[in-house]
Amino acid sequence: MSVQHLLELVDVHRTYQIGESTVQALRGVSVTIEQGEFVAIMGASGSGKSSLMQILGLLDTPDKGDYLLLGQNVNTLSEDELSGLRNNVAGFVFQQFHLLKRMSIVENVRLPHIYSGIKGDFRKEALERLRQVGLAERVDHTPNQLSGGEQQRVAIARALVRDPLIIFADEPTGNLDTKNSAEIMKIFKGLHEEGKTIVMVTHEKEIADYAGRVITMRDGVIISDEQRTGSVPARSAEPLAGFEIHGPAKVSLWQDGRFIGFMAQAFQAILANKMRSFLSVLGIFVGVASVIAMMALGEGAKAAMQEQLKSMGSNMLSIRGGSAKIRGAAQGAGAVARFTAIDVEDIAELTTLVKNATGVVNGSARMVYGNKNWSSSLTGVGYDYGTMRASTPTVGRWFTREEIQKRDKVAIIGVTVVKELFGNTNPIGGTIKINRINFTVIGIAPAKGFSGPQDEDDVVLIPVTTAMYRVLGKDYLSGIFVEVTSPALIEQAKSTISELIRKRHRLQADDDSFNIRDMTEIQKMLSSTTQTMSVLLGSIAAISLVVGGIGIMNIMLVSVTERTREIGLRKAIGARKGDIMLQFLVESVGLTISGGLIGIIAGIGVSFMLAIFAGWAVKTSVVSVVVATVFSALIGIFFGLWPARKAAELKPLEALRYE
Ligand code: ADP
Ligand code: MG
Repeated sequence: MSVQHLLELVDVHRTYQIGESTVQALRGVSVTIEQGEFVAIMGASGSGKSSLMQILGLLDTPDKGDYLLLGQNVNTLSEDELSGLRNNVAGFVFQQFHLLKRMSIVENVRLPHIYSGIKGDFRKEALERLRQVGLAERVDHTPNQLSGGEQQRVAIARALVRDPLIIFADEPTGNLDTKNSAEIMKIFKGLHEEGKTIVMVTHEKEIADYAGRVITMRDGVIISDEQRTGSVPARSAEPLAGFEIHGPAKVSLWQDGRFIGFMAQAFQAILANKMRSFLSVLGIFVGVASVIAMMALGEGAKAAMQEQLKSMGSNMLSIRGGSAKIRGAAQGAGAVARFTAIDVEDIAELTTLVKNATGVVNGSARMVYGNKNWSSSLTGVGYDYGTMRASTPTVGRWFTREEIQKRDKVAIIGVTVVKELFGNTNPIGGTIKINRINFTVIGIAPAKGFSGPQDEDDVVLIPVTTAMYRVLGKDYLSGIFVEVTSPALIEQAKSTISELIRKRHRLQADDDSFNIRDMTEIQKMLSSTTQTMSVLLGSIAAISLVVGGIGIMNIMLVSVTERTREIGLRKAIGARKGDIMLQFLVESVGLTISGGLIGIIAGIGVSFMLAIFAGWAVKTSVVSVVVATVFSALIGIFFGLWPARKAAELKPLEALRYE
């Protein structure tokens, strides 16, 4: 191999295709540039200057012909390797400055470092470069607060911060007045004198005069290439011998500084559009709030239920007439076994298995006390019911066996009934009418609270005999409660009792005119009810989360479009596909997680409101908070993926040109 040049183009062509028509911007350009040169590319508008420089600067690739950078053909490099080279070999200065408006000057200058894969925050380097271009005083201003000339100086500082081999400048003074142009050119001249290689496009002769070599183009070819006298001579490429062109191609996205940098930028982007960000996370907010409230309700109902089941005892059986089907399917006439006090006695005699048995009868009670009316559920109970079902009053007393035997008109009322009929006065000893019959109140049933939406304290207990024969006019019990001697004997008790009942009522073995449930079955039945509720609330949550996710996707797509030029700039200074992708993903996840967090707070708030104002049992759990957070993050990833990919796929050049 002969002498190694810094840059070498061999018969390079570049053709643009716009719909049907093609534009041949470069038609066979061959040129070499050495280290330390200051080259100006001149020519009329449309002559192909920018096209040439974009290829030299690795923003674009030739359709035909070769480009050798330090002897290495760039056609063989991967997209990420090209990004790496744009980061540490080339520094760009554009006519339009391309500064990121949201960031301060110093942040703009150190931006290329995020993509370098090197640890550190590089504020010091950025400040040093800003001093070099004479902006040491303005570091915390934003680009909008600077004049055009100052903005271009910031852009130069940014191009320098990675200490690139070559500075590429496309019409760097094109948007500046004469005075500012001169300032900028003075900076370039100084850089050149320090040994930087500079390739600059311009159409102004006075600007080209700063360069040591002027290449003139016309219609996509070089028509002249002249060396000026008195310029700093180019040096050979030896100092570059150790330069590793493949650079740090493998850079972990998670290396410190990088990820934090993305996070900070995502936050800036979100805060830059507060209202829009807020509106876009409304769906997530509602979804997460309902997940939290739903789980709180579900957990609350479950806890209340378990509490109640515990108070009922785990070795309790409930025997009812009719099939075991919940809200049974149609059954044949006479399919309901009719239990009487004799059944209860017979069951109670199975003393090895049965500790207690008591019959109950259910109905409703219309009560009157003074001028107050109230309706509750009425339960006729036997003597043992009080201990079996934890209903023995703490205020007042339980029924006596005598009262139950003699069908006495005595009642024990729940606290809700007390409140409705008696208000703050003492009910014990008071007389109330139940279904037009006078009863004496002898006790207040212990408060049990809500089981789901059902008020367990809105009850009236009276002796089962009184209920059957005086109040409800029923000859049969509604059911029998049995307390088994030990939980281990539940199954045995069930089959023995079942057999006994079949014998007594002369029922076939497959007759389902009665059923015996233990608490696990009752628990199952109750939880199936709360499950239905959970599924309902869950689907509301799921729908709003999906809608919210689509909202996020929409806003991210808008954001990608809005920031196309920013993406182009980031790619031009060395961002890899993965970097851009991660940046937008971090942003969408940031959005959904913030929405999620507000949702969690709102959800907990709603749960508390339901507990306080509606009296529902709720229980917020850490699990639900974790689930909601994870869910909102997943939604951010899922719905952010497409916009992020779209951003990552953008070609740097097209993105930079986007209006
Ligand atoms: P210069 O920088 O010298 O003004 P360019 O290199 O920008 O010229 O453009 C050369 C020719 O290629 C022009 O005719 C221009 O219209 C065309 N051209 C440049 N970029 C594109 C593009 N992205 N798509 C289509 N045509 C383009
Ligand atoms: Mg141009």
